[in-house]
Amino acid sequence: MAGIKCRCGNILSNVDCPSPNIIQIFSSKEVNNFINKNPEMLLIDFETAFDRKYKYWYCDVCERVYEVQNIPLGRVRRSYIINNDLNKISFDIASKLQQIYVFFSTELYEYEEKNVSGTVKDFFQTHPQKHLFYISEDEKYIYAFNNLTKEQGFIYTLDYIYTE
Ligand SMILES: [Zn+2]
Repeated sequence: MAGIKCRCGNILSNVDCPSPNIIQIFSSKEVNNFINKNPEMLLIDFETAFDRKYKYWYCDVCERVYEVQNIPLGRVRRSYIINNDLNKISFDIASKLQQIYVFFSTELYEYEEKNVSGTVKDFFQTHPQKHLFYISEDEKYIYAFNNLTKEQGFIYTLDYIYTE
């Protein structure tokens, strides 16, 4: 059991499994490399096979996202917050940036339950994603676009960097 206290005061916990406070974030680059090396890997084996430096917590009250070292008693490294006051950018410009995949843990579990023999490749290539996400080179901004209309939905910005 573990938890962290959000800057808004909400307690994030992973007591429920899958937890609504845990999200999964991958860069499309690392996912594509993984799939090329392991085209038949089942999704159920993905979490243990995929070497992750960080894990991600999501606050269901203020929607902040925390990046945490993926080790016992790992420290928070960065947090992101929704900030829609920024200028929007076009999908054409954003889609030249690094794409990232963002899923709730619950989404992965539901997919695994329905597709016991589903591969990692199946999941990333066929699972319908509501939003497409792109991260700026300096990793300060994350742009989310509606996958159907390609209209900008929301923007996350770097909220806080934690020092050791
Ligand atoms: Zn919060």
